[in-house]
Amino acid sequence: MHPEMGGKDAVKRRSLFVLITAIFLILSSCVQTAVDETALACSQNNIIVLKNCVLIDGTGASPRRSAEIMIRGGKLAKITTRGKIKVPRGSKVLDLKGAVVLPGFINAHVHRAYDSSNLQNWLNGGVTTVRDLAPLGIYDFIKARDEFNKNPKNSRIVSATPIMSVPGGYDGTDYYNSPEDARNKVLNYIDKGVDIIKFSIEDELQGRQWTLPTYEEVKSIVDTAHSGKKKVSVHIMHARNLRWAIDAGVDDVAHMVVEPVDSGTINDMIKKNIYWIPTLELIKGVSEMHSLDWDVIAADNLSKFYKAGGKIALGTDFGGYMCNFDRGFPKTEVLLMQKAGMKNMDIIVAGTKNAAIVCGLSKEIGTIEEGKKADILVVNGDPLSDIKALFNASMVIHNGTIIKK
Ligand SMILES: [Zn+2]
Repeated sequence: MHPEMGGKDAVKRRSLFVLITAIFLILSSCVQTAVDETALACSQNNIIVLKNCVLIDGTGASPRRSAEIMIRGGKLAKITTRGKIKVPRGSKVLDLKGAVVLPGFINAHVHRAYDSSNLQNWLNGGVTTVRDLAPLGIYDFIKARDEFNKNPKNSRIVSATPIMSVPGGYDGTDYYNSPEDARNKVLNYIDKGVDIIKFSIEDELQGRQWTLPTYEEVKSIVDTAHSGKKKVSVHIMHARNLRWAIDAGVDDVAHMVVEPVDSGTINDMIKKNIYWIPTLELIKGVSEMHSLDWDVIAADNLSKFYKAGGKIALGTDFGGYMCNFDRGFPKTEVLLMQKAGMKNMDIIVAGTKNAAIVCGLSKEIGTIEEGKKADILVVNGDPLSDIKALFNASMVIHNGTIIKK
């Protein structure tokens, strides 16, 4: 029906209908607050004030005692010391009685993230973000990421592409045949909204030979990703294959290598600001299953890289192999990093600030700084004197929503 056919009353009725529909739509979008991250905009005035805590902010700075943190609209609005926050009426004020507040942790190398049970285990353990480095068997992973990320009870997913490789190359599901083909495939993923580009440089693993890409193909992947402002993570497990990754300028290497790495290679990685993700839990699992000494070599390599000043981000490779992995907080990985010689504070930075950097999200998460998302892990006990204090979250806040207390 055309409007001119209904007369004045019909026009009025229609205007009223449009108005009511509009009000209904606005209200229903706010009602979703409990389950919908985007609806947090409706709770802009929901203020939480954390009082009387010790703040380890993830930057590596010394702990701040008597800290106070104001969370508003899902973000860290104010961070100060005792008595400096004017608490607005209606705020939820929590006295943490000297508990330690840290940024939510980030596991920068997992698989099987497109799974509510895994995501909720992580979040309850204080891991507020996971970087999935190849969606195994999930076709429309970008859409799945967006759906899972709407629910504040899920740890946030950062999505990498499937492992890109040449035909016959290590464990790919998406193959390129030339530098141009690699470029087009990377551009296509960026168009679709992927967060991270993942590829492999691997010639022998799991008792099999794999075809290597050419250096031109490696360079094409890295340059194209960087032109689209995306980070590149590369699967490498042999020291001999690091050279092309370093020369092409990847952002991180997704495993510690399992043959001794020389100091020249380590220094070149440091010069290029390439992060290393040890995945010691995976390497321990593989070593135990196949009676290998990879765990000893990997710990030694990590120790050398750490002592030389290399940057390390925490990641376990959860779900990337058939061995067992910790669910929730990455306890085994943290203990193995400590055993390899890392100081507790540096392990915390690896699991927060540095892991946020390899996710390409350093402006939004990873440290407790004003303006960032309110992703918080609260623990009792001092993780600087006993790293195991991290293993028992007494409270978790994700995007400003209290998940566990
Ligand atoms: Zn993996």
